[in-house]
Amino acid sequence: SHSYVGPDYSVQKNTGKISLEQIDALSVKSFPLCMRQLHRALRDNHHLRHGGRMQYGLFLKGIGLTLEQALEFWKKEFIRGKVDADKFDKGYAYSIRHSYGKEGKRTDYTPYSCMKIIMSNPPSQGDYHGCPFRHSDPDLLKQKLQAYKVPSSGITQILELVKGMHYQLACQKYFELTHGVDDIGFSLNHPNQYFTESQKLLSGGRELKKEPNNSGSSQQKSNSQESMNSNSTPASSNTTADAELEGLEGYFNED
Ligand code: SF4
Repeated sequence: SHSYVGPDYSVQKNTGKISLEQIDALSVKSFPLCMRQLHRALRDNHHLRHGGRMQYGLFLKGIGLTLEQALEFWKKEFIRGKVDADKFDKGYAYSIRHSYGKEGKRTDYTPYSCMKIIMSNPPSQGDYHGCPFRHSDPDLLKQKLQAYKVPSSGITQILELVKGMHYQLACQKYFELTHGVDDIGFSLNHPNQYFTESQKLLSGGRELKKEPNNSGSSQQKSNSQESMNSNSTPASSNTTADAELEGLEGYFNED
């Protein structure tokens, strides 16, 4: 019942329309917090561990990076750290091609939905993947939101939603606060949807819906979203997406 049934974000309408130079700015303006966090960690450490490479690599593919761009993007960053060009070509390039369906079973892998990110493969020490609203310690989340200049009243609202395990609603609130809108106008269920909606809004393609008084409205506008308890059975353990991932352990297989 928790399977993701929304649009397939592996269909890349934007393919080739984003340049690598734009990614830093886009990560601040239009990436959801999970991807902003991964991008920052990648830039800071010149490396991401397996779970982060999977989550972020497929997201970038979904926003329109071509295979050639993905290879260039990851290589440029990794060789600034401990991985030399030769090691990258041998250890990582195959895996990136694999994720684009160019190797192995030639499956075109789909970017992860929020449900999958929230419910499976929680991050361990040294990992940056996952959903910050679900997986970050609330104090750290608060610090991060402060650092991102989210107003303190908004932070309080977000932390309340997190406490109630309404992680996607917390993310919607983050969208509203960082885009200056009172009502997000859609029910969030995919990081790539977040990106697409943000871009639409910033380019004026979507009418802003201003509501003078929205207190408490976030709970009402997405009744379909249930709170998610970490003790629940991982929802996506048997989904098609997981089945597709079989054989993808080679994707960025180096740690
Ligand atoms: Fe990412 Fe979804 Fe969590 Fe938002 S709710 S941070 S888009 S996983």
